[in-house]
Amino acid sequence: MNEIIQAGWPEKKNGFDPALVHYFHVRDELTVEEGVVLRGERIVIPKSLRKETLEELHTAHQGVESTWRRAHESIYWPHMNRDIKEHISRCEMCTTFPTRQPKEPPLNYEVPNRPWEKIGTDLFQFGGKHYLVTVDYFSNFLETDYLSSTRLPTHKEVKKSHRTVRNTRRSSIRQRATVRFT
Ligand SMILES: [Zn+2]
Repeated sequence: MNEIIQAGWPEKKNGFDPALVHYFHVRDELTVEEGVVLRGERIVIPKSLRKETLEELHTAHQGVESTWRRAHESIYWPHMNRDIKEHISRCEMCTTFPTRQPKEPPLNYEVPNRPWEKIGTDLFQFGGKHYLVTVDYFSNFLETDYLSSTRLPTHKEVKKSHRTVRNTRRSSIRQRATVRFT
C-alpha cells in the first residue's frame, strides 16, 4: 500500500492487488506520513489491527451511531461502518443487557464544565512511532498526537497543544499503557 501510494495508482482498478481494490475510490485522499497510511487526517487501520480497534472503540458499550461518529474522527478502513455494526451486534454484554445499555458512556465521573478540563489518555505504538490518544470527557472528542519522544506530556502540555495546534493529529490503536490525568 505504501509503495502504491508513493508510486501512483493505476488508471483502472481491474487487475491489481485485490487487497487494495477497496481503497481505489479514496485513492486521492491517501498519503503516507512517517510510514503510516492516512486518509486525510484519519489513520488507515491495517487488517491485522482492526479486531483490536473494534474492541477498543466499544469499551464503553455505546451504540452503533455514536461509535461511528467517534471512529470517523480519527480512523478509517474499507467497510469500517459495517464492521462496527457487526461487532456491536455480536457483543455479549449489549445483547444480554439491552435495556441497560446506556446511550452515552456511563457518567461515573464528575462531568467537567469545559472542553479539555478533564481528559483521559493512552499511549500506543504504531509503525515504530509513539502516539498519544486523548479523550476529552466533556465532548467525548478523541484525538491522537504523534510523540517525538516517549516522555509523557503533562496535562498542561496536552491542554496547551489542543488549544494551539491540531495539525499533529494522527492515528489510533493502542498498545497497553493507560495513564489518566485525574
Ligand atoms: Zn457492547
